[in-house]
Amino acid sequence: MNRATGLETITACREAWDLAVIGGGATGAGIAVDAASRGFRVVLLEQNDFGKGTSSRSTKLVHGGVRYLQQGNIPLVMEALKERGLLLQNAPHLVRNLEFVVPNYLWWEAPFYGVGLKMYDLLAGQHGFGPSRILSRDEVLRHIPTLEPEGLRGGVVYHDGQFDDSRLLINLLQTAVEHGGVVLNYARVTALVKDAGGQVTGLAFRDEESGCEHTLGARCVINATGPFCDQLRRLDDPGTVPMIAPSQGVHLVLPREFLAGNAAIMVPHTRDGRVLFAVPWHGHVLVGTTDTPIAEASLEPRAEEREVEFILETAGRYMARCPTRADIRSVFTGIRPLVKAKSDANTAALSRDHTIQISRSGLLTIAGGKWTTYRKMAEDAVNRAAELTSLPKRSCVTKDLRVHGFLAKPEVSGPLANYGSDAEGITGLMREQPRLATPLHEALPISGAQIVWAARHEMARTLDDVLARRTRALFLNARAALAMAPGAARLLADTLGRDENWQRRQLAEFDEIATRYLPGRQP
Ligand SMILES: Cc1cc2nc3c(=O)[nH]c(=O)nc-3n(C[C@H](O)[C@H](O)[C@H](O)COP(=O)(O)OP(=O)(O)OC[C@H]3O[C@@H](n4cnc5c(N)ncnc54)[C@H](O)[C@@H]3O)c2cc1C
Repeated sequence: MNRATGLETITACREAWDLAVIGGGATGAGIAVDAASRGFRVVLLEQNDFGKGTSSRSTKLVHGGVRYLQQGNIPLVMEALKERGLLLQNAPHLVRNLEFVVPNYLWWEAPFYGVGLKMYDLLAGQHGFGPSRILSRDEVLRHIPTLEPEGLRGGVVYHDGQFDDSRLLINLLQTAVEHGGVVLNYARVTALVKDAGGQVTGLAFRDEESGCEHTLGARCVINATGPFCDQLRRLDDPGTVPMIAPSQGVHLVLPREFLAGNAAIMVPHTRDGRVLFAVPWHGHVLVGTTDTPIAEASLEPRAEEREVEFILETAGRYMARCPTRADIRSVFTGIRPLVKAKSDANTAALSRDHTIQISRSGLLTIAGGKWTTYRKMAEDAVNRAAELTSLPKRSCVTKDLRVHGFLAKPEVSGPLANYGSDAEGITGLMREQPRLATPLHEALPISGAQIVWAARHEMARTLDDVLARRTRALFLNARAALAMAPGAARLLADTLGRDENWQRRQLAEFDEIATRYLPGRQP
């Protein structure tokens, strides 16, 4: 993965690509992997950094969706549980089997949730992660010693998957490139190119680093811009009816002490009728999420005060020590690309979870779904694109395709565990230059070698890229991320060949972004 090489390949190419994918989140990356591994010529363009949108801001669960089970959407749960199993099989270095405890404070909760979660096990079938079971009060407290003991009757424990979203995203893009795909970040699509008959034949994009405009031809253009997809659809047809009803979800990150033990907490029904999770993640606890309708998607959505208060208050009901604002290490917000009910007659809902729409001009838009089902979404999108454009019939191969970083027996802990087979390269860097082995801040086990690696091999271009998505510093501890920024900027500048002015600008931009992750410093 190298930006200069990618850009050169795109600008030198005179032939039309089979597929051009707009959007470098889970949906776009999945499509790039699927298409490249079928042998199609695919290019992916992302306006900012890969994962800058929703795909780095999830709850980090690879799950069937207990919420959908509550809604009785059995096919959807089965599909997601199957995808969960495939992801564990193909990216075992990234997906962890985690125990989730549903604590019960009312007499009817244990039998009610116990039966529901047995059904969840049954639906998983051969892809099961482990059986659920009812726990006594003492067993619940052994699983989660910091749970609120007052009124606790018992609980139910079940299994689901957990992952690091932006790392999986980078690994997927690497997989796409290894199969011949071309991916480019900081490449904003500004227009669609059409022929005399009004059919889309390509697109125009701006290289956000140089400011240069480029065009490329494609047999099919796929709009995989998640919550931003209506903006692209308007480029195609200014009068189009919006298909997304954006809604934001907020997570708080707290110190690990708030959730002792190795299990997560799942609250199936909060005051506003949502599911709330408290999940151990990279030595911290992630608590969320809310569901607040918003007018329009933006790249750095801001948490509302009342959302932060709601999570603190709800988490406080289940934690022996109530978290306060002073305990919050970071706040991050993501936008759900929720698809409204059918927006026009051409909308073909492949499942209630994701939707594929083909416009009159042939633009294929795919939206909705969730991280867990990215592979199935990609398979459906590429099948549809192949039908539309008469690409040769080639079967999808991603069910058994190993994701970059795959290790049959991965490390389960340690700061480089999520890198899978790439960990060796990073430790090699540390051996060559021992100063790169030192953590950049005492609060987080993130070393200079990870920054250099990200710039060399993972197309990281800015301080935000390395501190928010290649490492998760900003998401875990925003103050620590700000403190490590000057050191990280120096390493990045050395690796990318940038000067001190560039470093100063990067620091100023990162400072502005980081304020949104600090509850006390929200602008
Ligand atoms: C709070 C929250 C929690 C979630 N938790 C989970 C979970 O635990 N498990 C799970 O399975 N799913 C979860 N999801 C769902 C999942 O995160 C999303 O479904 C998924 O990330 C959407 O990916 P996407 O690629 O469609 O959109 P995005 O990740 O937003 O990607 C779209 C990309 O398109 C780019 N783009 C926009 N316009 C242009 C343009 N003109 N040119 C080029 N690029 C452009 C954007 O910059 C963006 O990066 C959660 C979602 C939210 C909001």
